Amino acid sequence: MASGVLGVATPEEIAKYEPVIGLEVHVQLNTRTKIFCGCPTGFGAPPNTNVCPVCLGLPGALPVLNARALQMAIQAALAMHCTVNSFSRFARKNYFYPDLPKGYQISQYDQPLAERGELEITADGAKKVIGVTRVHMEDDAGKSIHDGFKDSDRYTYVDLNRSGTPLIEIVSEPDLRSSEEAYQYLSELKLVMQYVGVSECDMEKGQLRCDANVSVRLKGADKFGTKAEVKNLNSFRFAKMALDYEIARQVAVLESGGRVEQETRSYNVSTGETVGMRSKEHAHDYRYFPEPDLVPLQVSDEWLGRIREAMPELPRAKREKLGKLSLSDYQVQVLTATQSVTEYFEKANEVSGDPQGTANWIITELMALPDAFEKIAPEAVGTLVRKINEREISGKMAKDIFAKMIATGRSPQEIIDSEGLRQISDTGALEKIIDEVIAANSKQVEQYKSGKTTVIGYLVGQVMKVSKGQANPAAVNELLKAKLG
Ligand code: ADP
Ligand code: ZN
Ligand code: MG
Repeated sequence: MASGVLGVATPEEIAKYEPVIGLEVHVQLNTRTKIFCGCPTGFGAPPNTNVCPVCLGLPGALPVLNARALQMAIQAALAMHCTVNSFSRFARKNYFYPDLPKGYQISQYDQPLAERGELEITADGAKKVIGVTRVHMEDDAGKSIHDGFKDSDRYTYVDLNRSGTPLIEIVSEPDLRSSEEAYQYLSELKLVMQYVGVSECDMEKGQLRCDANVSVRLKGADKFGTKAEVKNLNSFRFAKMALDYEIARQVAVLESGGRVEQETRSYNVSTGETVGMRSKEHAHDYRYFPEPDLVPLQVSDEWLGRIREAMPELPRAKREKLGKLSLSDYQVQVLTATQSVTEYFEKANEVSGDPQGTANWIITELMALPDAFEKIAPEAVGTLVRKINEREISGKMAKDIFAKMIATGRSPQEIIDSEGLRQISDTGALEKIIDEVIAANSKQVEQYKSGKTTVIGYLVGQVMKVSKGQANPAAVNELLKAKLG
């Protein structure tokens, strides 16, 4: 398969085809304990310390489902707009691997927890709804660590701390049509999981793992092509790169008259290529059968209703809500990038009553500093914006106060009071300063009167200086113009 080796197809060749992508995403639920035993789930404990007979897979040990894990799985499923089945069951997925001491994974197969959901994404400027086939629960395997002290003396270590960590698998329909759509789907999925609080989805800690199924077909064809499954995608960026490579590779195979093999491939970060690992195993290879050690899962309408009621607002709803506040698309996008920023904005906005001003302050001032969000309460930002709008302080003063808020953690009101920082809008007081400035700058006054009106800026600056920044610049401008005729 000479042309497939490099996976290089010309842009013209690639343009003849349409990629079809479906993603299988594993999300680790952030319960304190494992899915079928009481062992802690914490990351970074010494190897093989968070284990017990159940998660070590010792004979005779019996699993007991963690109710909290089930609840989180339901929350995740609802967040993906799935139908949660009132009856589902666990199934054994049998395979051998050194880090899987039971010899099987407890998963769900023919009767999953939830089905038929969707996730809305925005890619290349267009909104699109991606179908979600199913959300099911399963336990994680342990970890094999391939390492060696010397080149000649390599070892593989097995750490079973992760064994039994609760996972959900979210399977998408083959609805994605580009690597960019896949990237956006992953980003939105992660954001949604973070919003519902079931997982941080930190990929570096393995809390989100993704396998990408991809095929290509000639544009206009109605049947899907043969898919390959790409594993080992350690970041969304790599997932996108791997998909681009794999799409080009498949196009090259087809263009050279070859056939795409149904197989599992691995993405190699250093070469940027995908390489074949094994021909795709089939479901029957896993010898799935109902898990005999666990009763079927029943989710009552009553419990489901309570979980549904307690669901937080999701990113999509937040975006729509913020979009109604006369904010730009860009502002909405930035302010809904994480749940904490959205919450921060909402709290600040409640106090300021000025979405635009609040958005501006958060995006241009707070986001420019590494820890402003931790140091300053949202209410304080809201107060600052309100005081500007009420002309109690000028924009310039607000910036000084803001710097002091960062440095001292004090509230805007405290800083204003202790430093006597009030904007001078009182005409009498301002006129006094303006008269002083006019008297001291006769040259500029002459220039202004002879038509060079731009020197007004200089004169306003002088008034601001004399007033130590406390004069209301708009009022100064007006008064100056009136006085100079
Ligand atoms: P398998 O039986 O190989 O596990 P599934 O039908 O269960 O395949 O689908 C697994 C994933 O592959 C899903 O995310 C699905 O959307 C995706 N998928 C299925 N067929 C294709 C295809 N022809 N091209 C790309 N992705 C596909
Ligand atoms: Zn255990
Ligand atoms: Mg499948």
